[in-house]
Amino acid sequence: MHRPDPTAPPADLHVYAIPLRTRFRRITVREGMLWRGPAGWAELSPFWDYDAAESASWLRAAREAADVGWPAPVRTSIPVNVTVPAVDGETAHRIVTASGGCRTAKVKVAEPGQSERDEVERLEAVRDALGPGGAIRVDANGGWDVDTAIARLRVLDRAAGGLEYAEQPVADVPGLAAVRRATHVPVAADESIRRAEDPFAVVRAEAADIVVLKVQPLGGVRACLDLAAEVGLPVVVSSALETSVGLAAGIALAAALPDLPYACGLATAQLLTADVTGRPLLPRDGQIEVSRPEADPGLLAASAADAPTRDRWLARLDAIEAIEAAAARA
Ligand SMILES: [Mg+2]
Repeated sequence: MHRPDPTAPPADLHVYAIPLRTRFRRITVREGMLWRGPAGWAELSPFWDYDAAESASWLRAAREAADVGWPAPVRTSIPVNVTVPAVDGETAHRIVTASGGCRTAKVKVAEPGQSERDEVERLEAVRDALGPGGAIRVDANGGWDVDTAIARLRVLDRAAGGLEYAEQPVADVPGLAAVRRATHVPVAADESIRRAEDPFAVVRAEAADIVVLKVQPLGGVRACLDLAAEVGLPVVVSSALETSVGLAAGIALAAALPDLPYACGLATAQLLTADVTGRPLLPRDGQIEVSRPEADPGLLAASAADAPTRDRWLARLDAIEAIEAAAARA
């Protein structure tokens, strides 16, 4: 296995801060680090609720991007879904219509403070915008309990005119298995894979029909390909809300998977108000072309974080590298 030199700091680090179009995962501004290594541009952007130990896999993914590069693609474009945050019906309709021809929509549900009625209205609007041929999936981010999930999925399945699947309807693996047994809507595991001590618990418990893989939290494209092969379930590749530099790693994973039966959650550049490349990874006709964009110096400067934010990220990188160095010594 490739073992990077943990003492080598990435040269020419950029720290970006880019506002989101809509609040997402309780954040309004996305931040992260970018640098270019011999193999290309890399992004390191763990959310702030990931501590240094949990962020080590994000750094492994960035080092793979910068220093090693990715396996060869087996396809040239990736079908992608539009992501609809927990917005009102009118906004949801507009987001789907402006999505660059996406035929699949992922709709956020189980948002604190919102009612079943809000979700039904959102799903009806999305179905109206997509037309009868499109696919609709929901993502609860583990926000329901088992009973709520079972009852709510029945309602939302009807409102959507059929759900493709429900992503992480409840937080824990036994709960996912219980929901899966009680509904005909297929269940996808996201947080139960990416933040789990043991991603195979999902498989052993027969808790999911589909797994969602994200390159940064799972430690890189190769690590995800290995995991996909071991898990043996259909994979949906999703982003961690990166710039196009980070998205390129997800595109590389989706491009290298032997099978790709579902649209991927990689059309998230449109959730940011700016990007760092002149060739952003945005969908056309519902697909993103497989490519690896270069960051643009002018756009990097335009999205540069202020000094305190930059210092916070440099300190964070030090902390993650310290964990990595300790692990290498152990
Ligand atoms: Mg998810």
